Amino acid sequence: MKKKKGEVPGFPAEVKQYTANQKVAYVGTGKKVYLTFDTGGPLGDVDKMLKVLKDNGVKANYFLAGYNVKAHPDFLKRLVNDGHLVANHTMSHKDMTTLSDAQVRKEIEDYAKMYQDITGKPIQPFFRFPYGTYSMHLLDLVSDMGYTSVFWSTAMRDWEPRANGPDDSYNDIMNNLHDGNIILMHQGSEDNIEALDRIIKGIKKEGYQFGLLTDFQK
Ligand SMILES: [Zn+2]
Repeated sequence: MKKKKGEVPGFPAEVKQYTANQKVAYVGTGKKVYLTFDTGGPLGDVDKMLKVLKDNGVKANYFLAGYNVKAHPDFLKRLVNDGHLVANHTMSHKDMTTLSDAQVRKEIEDYAKMYQDITGKPIQPFFRFPYGTYSMHLLDLVSDMGYTSVFWSTAMRDWEPRANGPDDSYNDIMNNLHDGNIILMHQGSEDNIEALDRIIKGIKKEGYQFGLLTDFQK
């Protein structure tokens, strides 16, 4: 069944079971859209992406795998200097449900330390589970560490080339646009980066502003 334009999508059934102590976000509030880039894979055309964001005056949110930060510390610095938010996405980008609690803690703590060493600033307390795989226990663990686990309200099959190229990226996002929309895009998708300027202009035309995850705390 196709949902109505502007409607917030349904979320997994277990969302109803979350406790007040579990800090979780699937969607934000207000006339805002949150672009979140997941960079577990290749970085793609970084210069093009950053130029499009800058030219449109848009700040975005990034979940970079730790090994990508290690290999490209200057990319992290550029993002932070441009005013984008870079949050914790673990060092190894493994499925956290396959690790021990001590290993999960180390993944997150090592990431925070690396971020601070490179940028000189503490990391913002936002976290994304690699592949979105988690458990109720891990939600508790991550929340106890002070992080909000950020999921999404729009995702695309963008880890592989799209049948209609950038048009698919654009249409998937515009057809699902809603208040507080957290959009998951994979940075390595050439189609996404190719469509990014159109996507941003289209979202603005619908009357939305672009938000950072830190807006949740306001
Ligand atoms: Zn990822």
